[in-house]
Amino acid sequence: MKRVPVIAANWKMYKSKDEALEFIFKVNQAVPSNEVVESIVFPPAVFLNLLVKREGENLRIGAQNMHYADEGAFTGENSPMHVKTAGAEYVLVGHSERRIYYNEVSETVNLKLISAFRNDLIPILCVGETLEIKEEKRTQEFVNHQVEKALINVDKEYIPKLIVAYEPRWAIGTGKNATAKEASGVITHIREKIASLYSKELSEEVRIIYGGSVKPSNIEEILKEKEIDGALIGGAALDPENFIFFTQVA
Ligand code: PGA
Repeated sequence: MKRVPVIAANWKMYKSKDEALEFIFKVNQAVPSNEVVESIVFPPAVFLNLLVKREGENLRIGAQNMHYADEGAFTGENSPMHVKTAGAEYVLVGHSERRIYYNEVSETVNLKLISAFRNDLIPILCVGETLEIKEEKRTQEFVNHQVEKALINVDKEYIPKLIVAYEPRWAIGTGKNATAKEASGVITHIREKIASLYSKELSEEVRIIYGGSVKPSNIEEILKEKEIDGALIGGAALDPENFIFFTQVA
């Protein structure tokens, strides 16, 4: 089945207001139609509303994080309703920086995934192994376990909306990327894992993308792999010209 590719820019904690607006202004007209590529920008949460008002027809906006609870005494957090009201249509769940620096364990990731679906947000579930796990040759076992834990109690009706990003931790922000073949191999097994949890038909609807030091010089090789449905890009996608290029080659 034909899956629409996804190009997602994770801005992390970068960009001033002027830089954010300039980016949106530049890329709005240049990204391909949404039926051809889903082009999504994940700005810092306080810019969501500002950018949503200026996004063009083909650009989508998502939140980098949210709390799983509908409301509560959680100082500093945003609920799913808050990010949705601000205009986000997507949300990153379980990014490795959240897992590492904010102690997001698999139970939290699972609750966030369920909450995203319940609130009609499209989640990009991030999974990926550490260098240590890779060296021990336990990548697949580790990643499959992350996928399985994240999907506990997720109803099958939501699976066609799911996007998974395979992002090896050792590749994020390091300049070292997994080879296209390595990434494609892991992604094939992630799809098999989802098939074993749900069904082959449903697993074939899930977009599974790669992230970790994607740049203009390697994206074409990565996206040539038919199992890789797109990319989640940090550093290199801060540049609007690069972002446009990524959406054009997808
Ligand atoms: P990077 O980040 O492209 O800068 O490696 C990827 C990510 O954090 O999603």
